[in-house]
Amino acid sequence: MAGLALRNLVKKFGNNTVVHNFDLEIQDKEFLVLVGPSGCGKTTTLRMIAGLEDITDGEIFIGDRLVNDIPSKDRDIAMVFQNYALYPHMSVYDNMAFGLQLRKFPKAEIERRVQEAAKILSIEHLLERKPRALSGGQRQRVALGRAIVREPKVFLMDEPLSNLDAKLRVQMRAELSKLHQRLQTTIVYVTHDQTEAMTMGNRIVVMKDGYIQQVDKPMNLYHHPKNLFVASFIGSPAMNFLRVRVVSEDGFLWLVNSSTRLQPAPAHQEALKMRIGQDVILGIRPEYIHDESAFIEEFPFWSTDVMIDVVEPLGIETNVYFSLGDDNLIARFKGNSDVRVLQRHKVGFDLLAAHYFDPETQEII
Ligand code: ATP
Repeated sequence: MAGLALRNLVKKFGNNTVVHNFDLEIQDKEFLVLVGPSGCGKTTTLRMIAGLEDITDGEIFIGDRLVNDIPSKDRDIAMVFQNYALYPHMSVYDNMAFGLQLRKFPKAEIERRVQEAAKILSIEHLLERKPRALSGGQRQRVALGRAIVREPKVFLMDEPLSNLDAKLRVQMRAELSKLHQRLQTTIVYVTHDQTEAMTMGNRIVVMKDGYIQQVDKPMNLYHHPKNLFVASFIGSPAMNFLRVRVVSEDGFLWLVNSSTRLQPAPAHQEALKMRIGQDVILGIRPEYIHDESAFIEEFPFWSTDVMIDVVEPLGIETNVYFSLGDDNLIARFKGNSDVRVLQRHKVGFDLLAAHYFDPETQEII
């Protein structure tokens, strides 16, 4: 078992820097997820840890060992890829055993490890089959099994679930979390899917354009994003953003745009006072925009009348789309809401849960 230390990792392809000063400690037994949009440098970072990509600058420690100059096969890591990469002519057993056979492990030890991994993954009954006779989910389990038998210090996983259909992905997500608890080992996991990141990671690294944006526990990322990018990337449906001007009138602060004026919550007024006369971006998650209710009577200055564009009933909740000035917003109402398309409706903003961002720097205020 081992943690990792990544010290100021830099990766350049020619003149193009795709990973900038990536600096992070990963704890022993941690499930760490790298998440971000396509091309942000996740896979390159993982491949540098794996030793599959040279590093331009920086240091990588696995446990206490500096591995910069240690070849991939000697780094005590196991990788699981998106495309499983199983050998089609070999049985499941042989696919799992092959790496150990190459390393000249004793037969009995190989047998023990394969059987144990097969049991953990519930694929004992599939050991004699060839990969073509397996479902996608079963193949992915074999790929995991092949990594598990190595008993590596660290698992590196690159989008291992992205070839599975949506239902199986949800199932395998939970299985990977269970597997992590059971193996008690360090996992570094790459995905572009924020739901996967949120549901599996002990901690999440959000990346953009080769830079780390924020490293945090899932709920901290959700409730305390450091900038506009993290706020918009984490959460589904995404956080709403509304450009408003901070105005002082009759001794009160107001947030004003062409079609509404709202009063910020007392907790935010101190910071907003510094910006009177300036624009800010108000961010609010869909679940904090409420249907007509007692809430609105309680906070009359946090509500406004809107025209409903689209209603998406999802069962337990209903997504409601509307526009406010130039901004398109989404609210998440209870499933039994009687909201109707193309009708005017009063919605209430729980501004205690609002975030404010600087439009220039995009940082949280
Ligand atoms: P995705 O989710 O699409 O896999 P990613 O976040 O994993 O994206 P990387 O694959 O790490 O992104 O790529 C980061 C950047 O580095 C991209 O702009 C990519 O085009 C570039 N890149 C990756 N590999 C090479 C290479 N071998 N030569 C040149 N540029 C590369």
